[in-house]
Amino acid sequence: MEFKELIQITKRLFREYVKKYFFRLLFALSLSIVVAGSTAAIAWLLDPAVKKIFIDKDTTYAYLIPILVIVAFSTKGLSLYFARIHVIKVGAWIQGIIQKQLANKILLSDIQTLEKKHSGKYVSNILYDASLIQNMVSTAVLNLMKDSFTLIALLSVMFYQNWRLALFAIIMMPLSAALARTLGKRIGKATKESGVLAGDLTSFLSEIIRSSQMIRIFQTEKRENLNALNKTDALIDKSIKIQSILIRATPIMEILTGIMIAGFIFFSGTLIAKGELEINNFFSFLTAMMLAYQPIRSLATINMVLYSGAAGAKRVFTVLDEPISIANDTSLPKLEVKKSDIIFKDVSFKYDVTTEKAVSDINFEIKGGTMAAFVGHSGAGKSTIIKLIPRFYDPQKGKIFIDNQDIHSVNLESLRKNIALVSQDVILFDSSIKDNIAYANQSASDEEIVKACQFAAADDFINKMPDKYNTLIGENGVRLSGGQKQRISIARAVLKNSPIILLDEATSSLDAETEQKIQDAINFLTKGRTTLVIAHRLSTILNSDKIYVVDNGKIIGEGKHDELIKNSEVYKNFYEKQIQKN
Ligand code: ADP
Repeated sequence: MEFKELIQITKRLFREYVKKYFFRLLFALSLSIVVAGSTAAIAWLLDPAVKKIFIDKDTTYAYLIPILVIVAFSTKGLSLYFARIHVIKVGAWIQGIIQKQLANKILLSDIQTLEKKHSGKYVSNILYDASLIQNMVSTAVLNLMKDSFTLIALLSVMFYQNWRLALFAIIMMPLSAALARTLGKRIGKATKESGVLAGDLTSFLSEIIRSSQMIRIFQTEKRENLNALNKTDALIDKSIKIQSILIRATPIMEILTGIMIAGFIFFSGTLIAKGELEINNFFSFLTAMMLAYQPIRSLATINMVLYSGAAGAKRVFTVLDEPISIANDTSLPKLEVKKSDIIFKDVSFKYDVTTEKAVSDINFEIKGGTMAAFVGHSGAGKSTIIKLIPRFYDPQKGKIFIDNQDIHSVNLESLRKNIALVSQDVILFDSSIKDNIAYANQSASDEEIVKACQFAAADDFINKMPDKYNTLIGENGVRLSGGQKQRISIARAVLKNSPIILLDEATSSLDAETEQKIQDAINFLTKGRTTLVIAHRLSTILNSDKIYVVDNGKIIGEGKHDELIKNSEVYKNFYEKQIQKN
């Protein structure tokens, strides 16, 4: 990253996040000045200490100086503590704000944008980036203030005690700073790589939990174990590398310090011989110089924290700045649903990631209150057509109307409010059955929930569960059967009570009794509402008011069963296969 970019990002961080904590930081800044002052005072005190106590043998000073030393150290310690507390808070708050913004962004983002991301990695990367920003704000900002002030104060003591010796030391100092810098860069690189590896490991672990059944049936435990070993080994290597760079710093620093001190002793010896340096000045100087060591080192490596924080911020900003094309625009009029007629006019849609259109030139009119079935082979484009209605995706060409209102020109919230979706892979939360059903309507009363479940033929099995409606169903409903999940999903749709129903019928076959229950539930749900169903069951197809045959992204036939069986080869084919299945 270029320095210019660092400045730009830092400016934006300041403007959007840090600015509101300005007074806290100002307070930390004043405390840093106190830290710098008391550190310099410690060094300076050595001058009167040596002169009065050791040379002049003054007993008053033998009491006074130790007390002053304690005062100086306590002032330094306490100010540093309070300064740190403040910046740690600011850093954590800012990290929290960023995390909230990211969560909000994920909730509002276009579905297609999210589908392009690997969720595990995406989440662990953005969390890591937020922590880098936190580190930049809390550590770097405080150290930058505290260490530069301290260095200035200590250099002043050194120049005050002997300017020639101070000049000599200043020439030596950049040497150690340069060394610390190269070490800092290498640590920075290794830390970054280990961050990526840690992210990898996190998403890998969550993936093997998610795919536990698949792993066992394909018996890939050994292979996955090997994967785990490789990933952890890589992380171990990186961690060793970081640690060894860190400890390698110690001997190098020690040797360098030795050389500096030797040169320094030699030079000061010459000055003392010439009568240009007193022993008390020497001690004070020496202390100041030694104390200057820490801030120099810290300042030399601070750019690393700044750069990695800015890099994290850059990635976070990229996510936050991503435009949302399908957003709720409250200035648009609300969708007014009366009959809930649905019209598709020349609709074509292509997913970002594919080259072929998923559906093209789709035209149909579905009368309000009727049921339209979409049939066709898998991958034909049926789900895509359905998903265009709640605007999960926007078509590149053509228009969709509900009661003659273009769905693109109405407020998104009012559009989705009128649509219920029952999909075959039911998404459930690790919570109680009641919460899962109430997800469709947060304000529903317990009676309404029970009623919806009765209509969805779910009340019976729920009442047989250990805690009835309060039974916890496990992650994604692992404690429920496929048929039970479907009924919960239907109950949700009943509770939502929308005039338009999008139904993706489950392909998996159930026992006859459950099948009948689900059929009844669906009949209840769809009665008098406009329903678009991706049909797999013969009974659904035969019950529909109209059937659309979808093939290769196009509607190649429409009508009633009897007509289609005569006119459409694809439909006939499809129908014969269904008969075999049923
Ligand atoms: P159907 O519901 O008839 O089985 P789909 O509408 O799911 O068919 O799929 C139509 C085409 O679009 C297929 O070629 C499929 O691979 C592609 N497709 C479906 N969903 C996505 C997606 N989220 N991203 C990219 N391509 C997709």
